[in-house]
Amino acid sequence: MAFGTPSTWTTHAPTVRELLASGPTYSFEFWAPRTPKGERNLWNALRRIESVAPSFVSVTYGAGGSTRDGTVKATQQIAADTTLTPVAHLTAVGQSVAELRNMIGQYADAGIRNILAVRGDPPGDPMGEWVEHPQGMRYAAELVRLIKESGDFCVGVAAFPEMHPRSADWESDTRHFVDKCRAGADYAITQMFFDPEGYLRLRDRVAAAGCATPIIPEIMPVTSVGQLERLRQLSTAVFPAELKERILSVKDDPAAVRSIGIGFATEFCARLLSEGVPGLHFITLNNSTATLEIYENLGLHEQS
Ligand code: FAD
Repeated sequence: MAFGTPSTWTTHAPTVRELLASGPTYSFEFWAPRTPKGERNLWNALRRIESVAPSFVSVTYGAGGSTRDGTVKATQQIAADTTLTPVAHLTAVGQSVAELRNMIGQYADAGIRNILAVRGDPPGDPMGEWVEHPQGMRYAAELVRLIKESGDFCVGVAAFPEMHPRSADWESDTRHFVDKCRAGADYAITQMFFDPEGYLRLRDRVAAAGCATPIIPEIMPVTSVGQLERLRQLSTAVFPAELKERILSVKDDPAAVRSIGIGFATEFCARLLSEGVPGLHFITLNNSTATLEIYENLGLHEQS
């Protein structure tokens, strides 16, 4: 069953594919809030980000599908009440194909035409055994196909500059990434990373496999010692030892830590832009301050 082109898809909601065609795109990632205070934080951050007219904003789908209603609600409100273009994340964790179809229908009804399709990780331990729903799907490529069959959606997928932690080797990692693109993905966004060379090698491997899908790097500014520790627990991305040392050498001075983190992220983004990346996607942690500072340092404020 296809959802077609709902009348709610207004002219101010371009696809990411269209935005990339006149890129580079500058975009920001949020998560769906779970509390009234979280909701206030999200909306404060969104309103500040709206003032720099980003290309799009994305809202994650909580681990194990835990924020599915919140993701629909937040993206719907963004589509209806702001000038921003929302991208809704969707995962296949714990859902049958029928339930996933229903979610896609809810996005269509909410006026969302941009979906980021990721498989998701098992609830609890992200590296635990992946058990697919008995009537569900095993890999993100299947989700891409389902969304594409369901209507005129623009679909993004995940890419991994340091290889997906479950992949056996670079060759299979690249092959499976290219499969997702051939299943209909319009673009990809990477996992966070801190070494530009990793991104460039990924781009070269994908190009060598005959795939031209644009890959947008994801930027994670690290502005506190607490974030360093959370990164170690939550992400497999390699954090540069020299940067870690610099941060830890001023660990009792939060302003100095922040300044080092913002400086690194600014240089990192500038290098990526000089390498011709199709866009930059900033993780905001639902707080716009650090990302807007980097945005300003890069001179992007004046362009918006
Ligand atoms: P897949 O592409 O399915 O790949 C998973 C593994 O299976 C890889 O090792 C791949 O090589 C392998 N594989 C693929 N196809 C085959 C095949 N045919 N045969 C054998 N092996 C195969 N998680 C959330 O819960 N919510 C979110 O909102 C969310 N947003 C994200 C946004 C971005 C930009 C990124 C990078 C990740 C996000 N994630 C999110 C995390 C993501 O769900 C996990 O990283 C997940 O482990 C991988 O998802 P995938 O879509 O890359 O999976």
